[in-house]
Amino acid sequence: MIKLIKNVEVYSPEKIGKSDVLIADMRIAAISPEIHMAESEYVEIIDGTGKLLVPGFIDAHVHILGGGGEGGYRTRTPELQLSDLIKGGISTVVGCLGTDGIARNMESLVAKAYGLREEGVTAFVYTGSYRVPVKTLTESIQKDIMMIEPVIGVGEVAVSDHRSSVPTREELARVIADARVGGILSGKSGVVNIHLGDGKTGLNPIEEVLSSSDIPYTQVLPTHANRNPDLYVEALKYAKNGGYVDFTTSTVPAFIEEGEVKASKAFAMALEQGVSSDHMTFSSDGQGSLPRFDKLGKLEGLDVGKVTSLFESVVELVREFNISLEVALKPITENPARLLKLKGKGTIAVGCDADLVLLDSESLQITDVFYRGKQMMKATRLVECGTFERCDS
Ligand code: ZN
Repeated sequence: MIKLIKNVEVYSPEKIGKSDVLIADMRIAAISPEIHMAESEYVEIIDGTGKLLVPGFIDAHVHILGGGGEGGYRTRTPELQLSDLIKGGISTVVGCLGTDGIARNMESLVAKAYGLREEGVTAFVYTGSYRVPVKTLTESIQKDIMMIEPVIGVGEVAVSDHRSSVPTREELARVIADARVGGILSGKSGVVNIHLGDGKTGLNPIEEVLSSSDIPYTQVLPTHANRNPDLYVEALKYAKNGGYVDFTTSTVPAFIEEGEVKASKAFAMALEQGVSSDHMTFSSDGQGSLPRFDKLGKLEGLDVGKVTSLFESVVELVREFNISLEVALKPITENPARLLKLKGKGTIAVGCDADLVLLDSESLQITDVFYRGKQMMKATRLVECGTFERCDS
């Protein structure tokens, strides 16, 4: 089935302007001010009037298998469901393990990624968990990246955190070097996604490796860089030196009160301070556990990080910080696609995968979602949902 989206304002994320967009064979076949085609049993015409067409979003740090568990076994969080991704406009996801690399493992993570692929998502994984040495599938970081197709890098390796394995500089350097070579030999990025905690050493463990080796800054992506004000200041310096930094969008009010810089604010302030908009990414940390406190600071229960927070942060950038949509979209589209070498993703251009999101031009609400041309959401209603879900729920 060919689809033709008519009269829509296209953001690639760069503003292209009013266009007609033709989707054929799961890809974008043409973008032109005027494409004429009659509706038929083979051609579906979609009216894009009053809508913005943007690339499907990329969420490069999600606990697709569930995460958490840091308050005991019952705090292990549930698996990600397809409908969550669709509601968030996310067509590409990178799954990872977290603190727990024992009761969660790589076999299950890869199986979950395959499951999401069967449901239409573009899904990849990082090999490993918080710990070094990295527990891989094949006993080798290089081999995992080269021989296990969904593995595109390593992560989330924890540093500066009381839950980390406290890797030495040499150990961390070896992980990054192995990932780099695995990436070079497979045509993948081999990026090492590094979890930053609240620990005293901040970004130093990464800086020490990069400043004393020949490995480029683009080989690592430190995440949670907005988790406290001191770390955030360090992260801006790091980004100005050429690094990429990732801001986490899932949060709770208690974290913000404790000093977490919310992702939208982190991006907007960084721009003001001269950090390139090309060097920042957002990820949701979806399905991670988030503690919920009452007014007296007593733990009331736990929430689960939501992938829908990813685009909400982009809307905040536009609404609260007056950032143009074309810049605000970069951290969830072209920036992660470039860094993670995700071909055909993160942009709207002829030949790219037809991963697309339609937004209401006034409210910026997600109204329609396409995964490789297949409609997953139509007029704000789910058309598709996960194997164990009901679309009307
Ligand atoms: Zn983390």
